[in-house]
Amino acid sequence: MACGEKPPMPQQVVCTSCQYYLPKTNFHLQKENNFTDRLWGRFPLHTAAAYYHFIKGGRVQQLIHNLKYNNKPEVGYITGLNYGNILRESVLYRDIDLIIPVPLHPKRQRQRGYNQSDSFAKGLSESMDVPFYKNVLIRSEATDTQTKKSRLERLENMDGAFQLKGHEKIQGKNILIVDDVLTTGATLESCALKILETPGVRVSLVTIGIAER
Ligand SMILES: [Zn+2]
Repeated sequence: MACGEKPPMPQQVVCTSCQYYLPKTNFHLQKENNFTDRLWGRFPLHTAAAYYHFIKGGRVQQLIHNLKYNNKPEVGYITGLNYGNILRESVLYRDIDLIIPVPLHPKRQRQRGYNQSDSFAKGLSESMDVPFYKNVLIRSEATDTQTKKSRLERLENMDGAFQLKGHEKIQGKNILIVDDVLTTGATLESCALKILETPGVRVSLVTIGIAER
C-alpha cells in the first residue's frame, strides 16, 4: 500500500522493505517533539506523536492516499494495531482511558463510506486495550477547504463544526484524539478545544503522519 510491492502476509498492508524503511518519527519517546512544538501555546496538551514523517511524493503519502481515496480502511486499522503496540510500551501513553477519532464531514463520509480516522482508532484501541468512542465528538456541518486560509480564518471557519455528545462519558478522562495526518493542526486544535470544555480531561494526540512544513 506504500510502494506497490506485495506484503509478505495477506493481513499486512506494507511490504518487508517498507516495514523497515518507512520514516518513523519515534516521537512517542519524547513528551515534547516536533508535533507538540507545532501546536505549542494553542491549548493544554499532554503529549503528541505521529507514527511516520509524511513527505510529499513519498511512500507514506501513498499509504495514506490508499487509506483515504482507494477504499482501503484496513490500512488505518493495521497501522493502528502496529502503532498501538509501540505506544503501549511508552510511559507517556500508558494511562490513556479512551480514544476519540476526529470525525469526518458527514457528506464526505457518505461519499467515502467510512472515516479513515475510525479505522486507525479501532486498531489503536485493540492493541492498546483502550475503548474508542466514535459518537461522542460529532461534526455537524461541512466546512470549506482549509488550505488557503490563515490560522484565524481557519479557526473561525471551524467554529461550531464540532459538537460534543455526552460530556459525562469523558469527564475526568485521559483522552487520545486521533487523525490521519497533522498539517497545520487546525482540525485537531478545534477538536481538542471542544473536548477540553469538559472538566478534568487531559488531551494527547496521535496521527499516522506528520507533514513537512
Ligand atoms: Zn513497500
